Amino acid sequence: MTTAYPHLLEPLDLGFTTLRNRVVMGSMHTGLEDRAKDFDRLAAYYAERARGGVGLIVTGGFAPSLAGALYPGSSVLVTSRQARRHRVITNAVHREGGRIALQILHAGRYAYHPLAVSASALRSPISPFAPRALSARGIRSTIAAYARCARLAREAGYDGVEIMGSEGYLLNQFLAPRTNHRTDEWGGSPENRRRLAVEVVRAVREAAGPDFVVVYRLSMIDLVPEGQSWDEVVALAHEVETAGATIINTGIGWHEARVPTIVTSVPRGAFTRVTAKLRPEVTVPVITSNRISMPDLAEQVVADGSADLVSMARPFLADPDWVAKAAGDRADEINTCIACNQACLDHTFARRTATCLVNPRAVRETTLVIAPSRRSKHVAVVGAGPAGLASAVALTERGHRVELFEAGDDLGGQFAIAMRIPGKEEFAETIRYFRRRLELGGVKVHLGRRADVEDLTDFDEVVVATGVEPRVPDVPGIDHPKVVTYAAAVRGEAPLGRRVAVMGAGGIGVDVSEYLTHAESPMTVEQWMTEWGVGEPDASRGGLVEASPSPSPREVHLLQRKATPIGRGLGKTTGWVHRAALKAKGVHHHVGVNYERIDDAGLHITHGENRSDPQVLDVDTVVLCTGQESVNTLGPQLAERGVKVHVIGGADVAAELDAKRAVRQATELAARV
Ligand code: FAD
Ligand code: NAP
Ligand code: SF4
Repeated sequence: MTTAYPHLLEPLDLGFTTLRNRVVMGSMHTGLEDRAKDFDRLAAYYAERARGGVGLIVTGGFAPSLAGALYPGSSVLVTSRQARRHRVITNAVHREGGRIALQILHAGRYAYHPLAVSASALRSPISPFAPRALSARGIRSTIAAYARCARLAREAGYDGVEIMGSEGYLLNQFLAPRTNHRTDEWGGSPENRRRLAVEVVRAVREAAGPDFVVVYRLSMIDLVPEGQSWDEVVALAHEVETAGATIINTGIGWHEARVPTIVTSVPRGAFTRVTAKLRPEVTVPVITSNRISMPDLAEQVVADGSADLVSMARPFLADPDWVAKAAGDRADEINTCIACNQACLDHTFARRTATCLVNPRAVRETTLVIAPSRRSKHVAVVGAGPAGLASAVALTERGHRVELFEAGDDLGGQFAIAMRIPGKEEFAETIRYFRRRLELGGVKVHLGRRADVEDLTDFDEVVVATGVEPRVPDVPGIDHPKVVTYAAAVRGEAPLGRRVAVMGAGGIGVDVSEYLTHAESPMTVEQWMTEWGVGEPDASRGGLVEASPSPSPREVHLLQRKATPIGRGLGKTTGWVHRAALKAKGVHHHVGVNYERIDDAGLHITHGENRSDPQVLDVDTVVLCTGQESVNTLGPQLAERGVKVHVIGGADVAAELDAKRAVRQATELAARV
């Protein structure tokens, strides 16, 4: 069969085994790794991805010792008894024709517990626990622990292991002068700093035998001060290859780096150039990674020789059938990961089980099942925002006949506003995906049609997903011509002046501030690198250069009534990126304010409970980002007429609404109707 992705889908012969294609599902901690009682669920999750055609799956990290665990009680593989429990996972993947490697991850100073160890006793900026510097004996037993873990992985039926040598974890801590201040044979010179990583690879190879995949995840650009130099990275790659690695995977940036590496505002493929620079230096296959989410780019980077394989992690939460769809020339059916981190990484950091905003079935394969319905019903869905779209496609999948009503002239609801924010262009993919699924499912879509009760009484059931509208607060002068809602501002329906006040600093206020301060959108990889101070890998140690953000075309004031710092409520893994971006653009923050009035002079504010320190912000435009109100007149009206009605998404509850909740609620409802 001819395919649009011949390089990506070509098998890879590793000598002792063959991967069926060049697609690697990168390591992701889901939270199910921590307890053996969750392994059946974990097996179902991996099996679905193997069935979908992934070439090689890499598990979430398992520590080779208790000291290396990420947090108390997190996943370790240290005994044969534990290894036996993994059989359910490896068997499930092998039954689907897949290959799976266990990731060995020693957290080093990123361990969130008092047993943390590292090269030197230097606390990381993102952990409260100061590590103990490993003794020479401790280093030897750590190497032995890696070897034991690899042997146990083999016993458990894994096809290989990935040694986590990047993202600032233990091996990376030994490699970089930033964290390795030792003066013995494990520190000082670059050779000494490399010794632990190389010895670990050698010991793992010896323990696991020659016919076992050993992937080494190598930090190719640390993105921290006093990281490794490019010469050191290349020397490490050579030594790791000689020590027995089968494949080298790309690691980008430490967790403590102040440069974003995977959030949605990082342009697609921003780091493939780093892998491309290393690839000619070694003879083993090299994997590239970071912000590759669709087959066209994945194919391109293999075809142009940047890499031999492509690792994608979150895209397989979003769509287990990614490879099968690419292979079947159905890339337009892929549910694209929008790199929001909201249901995956943000959950992991909050110690919640990971899932996916665009695919709430991820990691819930056994509990959220979209099975065919016994009776096909005629269902109306009102509103084509994320909630309405998700319910319409899931209802169709179950065999119901669905009609979708949307008042606007296109699909997407608030998400169609979100995708206009610089750095959130990826959100358009979700609307593209749903549009295609509606077509395939034969959903009758009525665009430009504001449904009323009369339109809806003949359906078996009605789903009201009419969403939210911007809240207009009660402030004197709120009807002044200089006041606009976020929706009108971002849709380009209202002129925006050069000096702007943004009232409300939640997720939308921050996004609108990004919109107002960016002249270029979307950014090219080069522009983005300049903006964040990322150089070529050989530019400096760690690949950092001075950031040079482009100036904002507007003066922006961002305000909230709360006295807390702005951006507190944003996602753990994305909030800091927004805060740094707004700072770089010179956005003025005002917290603890009272909105007194708006007039020709501007926005009048005071501060605190005693309304002190009056101030006039001399602005041309005031954008309202002051939350939202539910739109739900239909629900009660339909119920009164005896229609079976379900209210979901923003129409149900506007407070603390996000698309994650909207899509999840919609899918759970559809599974029951
Ligand atoms: P909506 O998206 O409001 O959709 C409701 C739809 O119903 C609308 O299209 C409306 O026209 C239609 N409708 C209303 N009445 C009728 C009727 N009578 N007949 C027919 N159609 C009707 N969320 C996140 O999770 N992450 C983010 O990063 C994020 N960023 C955002 C950035 C911006 C700038 C904005 C504006 C929102 C963002 N959101 C984000 C919020 C997210 O978009 C909303 O939570 C989500 O869209 C709510 O989905 P919904 O389907 O319930 O409602
Ligand atoms: P929000 O986060 O609830 O923020 C609303 C803002 O308006 C707050 O700053 C609030 O702060 C202010 N406000 C509320 N009522 C007000 C009133 N009567 N008068 C004046 N100010 C008022 O909601 P949002 O920004 O509208 O976002 C909506 C949803 O979209 C959120 O749930 C959010 O999670 C989601 N979203 C997420 C992202 C993301 O990156 N993950 C981005 C955008 C949106 P004060 O009360 O302190 O003034
Ligand atoms: Fe991707 Fe967001 Fe889903 Fe995570 S939650 S996998 S970032 S779409």
